[in-house]
Amino acid sequence: MNINYFMPTRVVLGADCIFSNRAFLGGLGKKALIVSGKNSARANGSLADTVKALEANGQSSFLYDRVMSNPTVDCAYEAADAISREGCDFIIALGGGSPMDAAKVAALLALNRVEKPALFGAAFTTALPIAAVPTTAGTGSEVTPYAILTNDVARTKTSIGTPAIFPRYAFLDARYTLGLSPAITINTAIDALSHAVEGMLSVKASAITNALARESISVIAGCFGALGEGRAPDIGIRERLLYGSMTAGMVIAHTGTTAVHPMGYTLTYNHNIDHGRANGLIFAEFLKIIEKKEKDGSRRIPAILSALGMKSLDEFTAVLDRLLGKKERFETAVLEGYAAQAAKAKNIANCVIRLEEEDLLEIFKRSIG
Ligand code: NAP
Ligand code: FE
Repeated sequence: MNINYFMPTRVVLGADCIFSNRAFLGGLGKKALIVSGKNSARANGSLADTVKALEANGQSSFLYDRVMSNPTVDCAYEAADAISREGCDFIIALGGGSPMDAAKVAALLALNRVEKPALFGAAFTTALPIAAVPTTAGTGSEVTPYAILTNDVARTKTSIGTPAIFPRYAFLDARYTLGLSPAITINTAIDALSHAVEGMLSVKASAITNALARESISVIAGCFGALGEGRAPDIGIRERLLYGSMTAGMVIAHTGTTAVHPMGYTLTYNHNIDHGRANGLIFAEFLKIIEKKEKDGSRRIPAILSALGMKSLDEFTAVLDRLLGKKERFETAVLEGYAAQAAKAKNIANCVIRLEEEDLLEIFKRSIG
């Protein structure tokens, strides 16, 4: 075995975990920049609980609530400006992956002056401390060293990765996710599942990440029966999804993602398809190509199917088809462009099976052609 595992985030999960663990926040500084999207943090109670915990600690805060889905470079710089203007010394992110990622980049920019055009090429080693409160069960960003921003120069989404942006604390309270719409619940659950599955197919997979991935896959797949047809899952399912998403985040923190993510990014960038849905559209055909090419006896697909509790990839396809509903369709010429773009992503080389541009095109055509 060859293991090198680093996970510096303290994870606490449970009802009211922010207030009951407020002493952790107390050690981060005098004033917090709270980063959120427009509405959900107010509606789901995470903002009120955070402010209550800070006040009980004698700490103050300033709210930056302008993070949009698929956050832009400008948004991260605006949040960083608020840090210096307001004199904040730590950050609390409330929301899905979008506020968490914008907050992570703001935490980097607060300590490092980098002009916008140089952002994606910059090497960072320091950031303000971050606490993360995920309110979707999907990205696992609360335990990853990545932040993903829209990159208008490359016309896709680009990841910034440095251990400096591992959050210090992750507070997981499933009550905040109760109001997620059925569609966002499904899309984010598929995103989390894709992290765990891509992690098992990564050249960086280890015994520890595979154990976490199997746990995540079986927990998330075990929730699928409670999703779809407009159902609103109960708190028990919500908590399992949040836990499954966090464990999948612990996987990709080490393995990174492989081909599904860069392929999905092209659909999100060009057609505004939700991140998790974009992954879901191509997920099953990606696995089928891996199954066909997996000739080294490593039997990764059977291991993934076993964690899913499924007998075949056709069964997996049927489950995803039910959850995703009617799929988007695109002309081959359009998909050729997306395959060429995705083939340039560094994650592609991260897959245990080498996929060429023609393989990516085949996956796109079979999925949404
Ligand atoms: P999101 O873009 O953060 O949020 C999507 C929508 O859900 C927003 O409209 C948001 O509303 C709403 N929402 C959030 N929490 C809610 C709640 N509890 N109840 C009701 N509505 C709620 O979605 P996401 O899927 O979590 O994040 C996607 C982003 O994460 C993408 O940019 C993706 O590339 C990135 N990502 C990052 C990592 C990583 O490791 N860093 C991994 C995978 C994906 P408000 O705007 O009002 O909050
Ligand atoms: Fe993702």
